[in-house]
Amino acid sequence: MAAYELRCKECGKFYGIQPLSICDECFSPLEVVFDLDYARTRFTREAIARGPLNIWRYRALLPVSDAYVPQTPAGFTPLVPAPRLGAHIGARNLYLKNDAVCMPTLSFKDRVVAVALANAQAFGFDTVGCSSTGNLANAVAAQAARLGLKTFILVPADLEPAKILNTQVYGATLVRVDGNYDHVNRLCSQIADRYRWGFVNVNLRPFYGEGSKTVGFEIAEQLGWRLPDNVVVPMAGGALISKIHKAFKELVMLGLVEERQVRFFGAQATGCSPIVKAVKNGTGQIEPQRPATIARSLAIGNPADGPFASRAIRSSGGWAEDVSDVEIVSAIQELAETEGIFTETAGGVTTAVTARLYAHQRIRPHELTVACITGNGLKTTDVLNGAYDQRQAIRPRLADFEQFVEQLRSETEDRSQVFALAGADDGR
Ligand SMILES: *Cc1c(COP(=O)(O)O)cnc(C)c1O
Ligand SMILES: [Zn+2]
Repeated sequence: MAAYELRCKECGKFYGIQPLSICDECFSPLEVVFDLDYARTRFTREAIARGPLNIWRYRALLPVSDAYVPQTPAGFTPLVPAPRLGAHIGARNLYLKNDAVCMPTLSFKDRVVAVALANAQAFGFDTVGCSSTGNLANAVAAQAARLGLKTFILVPADLEPAKILNTQVYGATLVRVDGNYDHVNRLCSQIADRYRWGFVNVNLRPFYGEGSKTVGFEIAEQLGWRLPDNVVVPMAGGALISKIHKAFKELVMLGLVEERQVRFFGAQATGCSPIVKAVKNGTGQIEPQRPATIARSLAIGNPADGPFASRAIRSSGGWAEDVSDVEIVSAIQELAETEGIFTETAGGVTTAVTARLYAHQRIRPHELTVACITGNGLKTTDVLNGAYDQRQAIRPRLADFEQFVEQLRSETEDRSQVFALAGADDGR
C-alpha cells in the first residue's frame, strides 16, 4: 500500500486517496490508515525532535505527501500541571492540555483544519468550507485566508456573536442557517456534491480527523514519551477522543512509548449528551438529541463518530459524564481562578466533568491524568454576562482607595481572599 490510504472503518474496503468520507458499500465512515512499516523508519523520537514546534513535527503520521511544504503552523500547545485546581477537586497528578492558546484561532480546531486544508490544496479545490458550531468556522476562515482559498462557512443562525465576527473578519462568506448544527451539516453534504467544494468536515472529514491525533502525540511527547493513566476529553462529534485513542495506539505500535492501559473519559453538557448516554447505557447506540446548552461548540445532537467514541471509552475501562449549564459556568470560573486559564464553555464542561470523576472516585488522586482544555473563553464571554459587578470608579487618591478596601471588607466578610488583601500590612 501507499504511505497512507482511506479505508472503511466497518467493512475494511480500501479507497485510495480521494475527497470522500463515507463507504459506498456499507455507509460507514472512512478513516486514514498508515503503512506503519513505512512510517516506522521516519516517525522516530529523533526525527520528531528535529521538526518544527507545531503539528507538522508529526507529519510522518499525518496524511500529507512527502513533498508537502507546511504553510499552516498550528498546535504544540502547553501541557501544564494543575496543582491548585487539583487541590480543589482532590487530584494530585493532574495536567491540562491547553488548546485555549492554540494558534492561530484559539481552539484545537486549528489542528484539524491545517491537515484538512493541506489535502484540499492537494485535491485542487479552489473553494473550501465547513459546517460549524463556531470554532471550526474561525479556524477554516483564518487558514483559508492564509492559503488564498475562497471560503463558504455555514453555521446555525443563533451562534455566539464573537464566533461569527471571528469568522467574517477573515473575509469568509458566512451563511447563517435557520436550524441546528445537524441541519447545517446535512446541507453542507449537498453543497459539497453539487459545487465540488472541499468541506473540511464533510468530504475531507477523514483527513480532518487525523489532525486531532496531534493532541495525543503532544501529550505523550510532553510527558517525556510516556502515556498517562487517564485522559478527559470533551466530545461534540466524538472525533477528538477517538483520534487521541488512535494516536496512542499508533505510538505503541511504533515503539515510541511503552504500552499502557490509558482510560478514556468523555465529557458533554447535559443539554446535548448523546455519547454520554450511549456510554452509560452500555449499548453504544447513539440516540440523536435536540441540543439545548450553552456549550455551543459541543452541541452536536447526532455525532458522526459517536459510536466509535463510545466504543473507545468503554473498551478502555473509562467512563463519561455530563454536567449542567450552571456547573459549566462555575467550572470556567474555577479554572480561571486556580490556574489562570480562561476557557470557553467546552473547557467548563471538561473541568466540571473532571471534578466529578474525582469526586465519584472514577479517577484516583495519584493517577496521572490529562484534561483537555480545547477552546478560549474570550469567544464565549456572553455566558459570564452579569457575573461580575462593575463598581463605581474612584478618584485617583489613596484615601479613596482605602475607603474602597474598607467597603470591600465590610461587604464580603466571608471571602477569605479579600481578608488577606486588606490585612496585608498589619499581617507581616
Ligand atoms: C469541536 C470541539 C470539540 C470536540 O470535537 P469533536 O472532535 O467533534 O468531538 C471540543 N472542544 C471544542 C472547543 C471544540 O470546538
Ligand atoms: Zn464499508
